[in-house]
Amino acid sequence: MDEKEKIAIDRKPLIYNIQRYSIQDGPGTRTTIFLKGCPHKCPWCHNPDSQSAEKELLFDTEKCTGCGACVEVCPTGAAYRKGDEILLDRKICTNCGKCVEVCVPGAREMIGQETSIEEIIKTAKQDEMFFASSGGGITISGGDPMYFPEFTIELARRLKDEMLHVAVESAVGCQWKYLDELRNHVDLFLIDLKTLDETKYKEVIGGSLQVVMRNLESLLEAGASVRVRIPVIPGFNDSDADYDAFSSYLGALRSGLEGVDILPFHSYASKKWKISGKWDEYKYRETESLQPEEVLGLAKRLKEAGFSGKDSSLTIGGIL
Ligand code: SF4
Ligand code: SF4
Repeated sequence: MDEKEKIAIDRKPLIYNIQRYSIQDGPGTRTTIFLKGCPHKCPWCHNPDSQSAEKELLFDTEKCTGCGACVEVCPTGAAYRKGDEILLDRKICTNCGKCVEVCVPGAREMIGQETSIEEIIKTAKQDEMFFASSGGGITISGGDPMYFPEFTIELARRLKDEMLHVAVESAVGCQWKYLDELRNHVDLFLIDLKTLDETKYKEVIGGSLQVVMRNLESLLEAGASVRVRIPVIPGFNDSDADYDAFSSYLGALRSGLEGVDILPFHSYASKKWKISGKWDEYKYRETESLQPEEVLGLAKRLKEAGFSGKDSSLTIGGIL
C-alpha cells in the first residue's frame, strides 16, 4: 500500500454532492451520495472535480458579471482583474472560499463539503417514502467510495441499520478485505469495468485490472448482488476486440451477475472540465456523445452471451 492510499483509507472524505431523486444509480428512485476523491484518473471522467480528495474552486466565467467583489476579498491575489476580465490564478488560490461568499451570481462555487454520517443519514431518510414506493434507496458513489473503505463500510452499515436499500458504485480496485466486510451491509454492487486490457487499464486508468477482476469474481462467489457497468468511450474501448472481450468475460460470469449496464459516453462533462480549470487536460473536447444505437454492437454480443433487456439484465443507460 502506498502512502497516498494509506492516507485516503484513514481519512474522512469530503462530500462531492448528494443527489436526490436519482434514477440511474440503481433500482427505483434513489439518493446518491458522491464522495470526493478517486484513485483513478479516467481522462473522460464526467465529474473531473470529483477526482481530487481536496476542496476545489469552480469558476464559471459565463456567470461572472465582472462586479469585482471576489477581487476585493481575495487574500492571495488569486482572483484578479485584467482589463475587463476577472481571472483566477489557481497556482496561488488556497481554496479559502472567501470569494464564493461574495459572488452573488454564483460564478464561484466550492466543491467538497465536510458532512457527518449523521447528516448524510438525515438527508437520506427524507425520501424514505419514495424509496418504499419505487424499490429505491441509497447509492454510495464517487469519485470512488472504495478510496475511503472504512468510511464507506461505516456509512453502509448505518444506512442498513435504518433498513434502507444500499448500493455501492465502485471500480473495486481496493483490497479484498474491505469488500469482504462491506458486502455484509450492501444490497447491490455497481461495478465499473472500463476495459479488459491490462496494459490500457494500468496506463490510462491507473490501477490493476487483475485486482478488479479478482474482486468482482470474489464478490460473485460470496453471493453478492452485482451489476457491471461499462462506460463505452470512443477510441478507448469500443472496438470489436473490446466488445468481444467484454461479452466473453461477462458471459462466463452470467449466472452470478444481476446484469450489465452499457453507459454510452456523453459530452456534457465538457463544462465541468472548463470551470474546474482542467480544460487543457481534457482529451475528449471534440468527441460527441454516443447515441444508444452506436453501442448496439456491444449490446448484441452481450445478448448472445445470455443477457437480456426483457429481464433488465441488460440495459443501455442503467436500470430505471
Ligand atoms: S464576485 Fe463573482 S460575479 Fe463578481 S467578479 Fe467575482 S466571479 Fe465575477
Ligand atoms: S478561494 Fe480564496 S484564495 Fe482562492 S480565489 Fe477565492 S478568495 Fe482567492
